[in-house]
Amino acid sequence: MVATRQQQMACLHAMGIQTWVSRDVSGDISQKILKDASCDMPDQEIPVETVQADAISPQVLPGAIPAPGVIEDEPLSIVSETQVGNTEAEYIRADEEPPLPTDDFMPSLDMSEVSSQSTSVIDVSHLDWPALQVAVSSCKACDLHKARTQTVFGVGDHTAQWMIIGEAPGADEDKQGEPFVGRAGQLLNNMLKALGLQREQVFITNILKCHPPGNRNPESEEIVRCEAFLQRQVALVKPKVILAVGGVAAQNLLKVDTAVSKLRGQRYHYGETPLVVTYHPAYLLRKPSEKAKSWADLKFAAAVVRGD
Ligand code: URA
Repeated sequence: MVATRQQQMACLHAMGIQTWVSRDVSGDISQKILKDASCDMPDQEIPVETVQADAISPQVLPGAIPAPGVIEDEPLSIVSETQVGNTEAEYIRADEEPPLPTDDFMPSLDMSEVSSQSTSVIDVSHLDWPALQVAVSSCKACDLHKARTQTVFGVGDHTAQWMIIGEAPGADEDKQGEPFVGRAGQLLNNMLKALGLQREQVFITNILKCHPPGNRNPESEEIVRCEAFLQRQVALVKPKVILAVGGVAAQNLLKVDTAVSKLRGQRYHYGETPLVVTYHPAYLLRKPSEKAKSWADLKFAAAVVRGD
């Protein structure tokens, strides 16, 4: 069964997206529809519009761990969600303290040293779910383990069609051990509901499994040392689409330094898995006018899941 128009409207309303309402259901009546309709859509066919696949030039970018030196050759001059600013790539996580502005997000790094250390830590490429979870929770491959309350592995359906990948656990996530539980998480839940998906039906995780103290940007060394865990999660879930939310996730998965505004609207690949980019929910909390674009991204990702 396809979700009703009223349910769709209620979910879009919950995301903060203004919907056009026909004159014959305008005014009080449209408000009543939104009030009466539940945003809890059933787990059924996703009612999304057909995406003009021809209008989107496919692009395949490398997604696996690059050969040592690739990042050195092309340093990720990432402008993160956690930085202060006004553009889509420059914002503070809405539910946390702003970090001090800094110019040295990507300090120069000896990648050969990082690669050999990270691979010598533990090979997780053949671990099953329980073993992978233990490996993550006991990881001390970077200094983030010293300040964490606990690791944040990821939650959801181990056979999900959708995999949502964010940046790093925030303070709330560090306390609760679950990704996207703060205000940004509430908005992410509503974005999923608008697609007819419950949070439990997708798999949600982050680039980093530990909270960066003070909510600072992830460092390149931390990202490199954590990447094998994410690669194994993707290999185990085998999602039909990865939704990279925000610049840090998108840029590190795709190994580019392009802004989200330029990355969105195209299908990429992380290894073999199709990948779609959209704005981080925390950015959308700060810039609600961008929610309509994010909704378009979600519909595009749904088309990818359907195989359109
Ligand atoms: N932001 C993220 O990128 N991930 C979380 O888990 C929470 C906030």
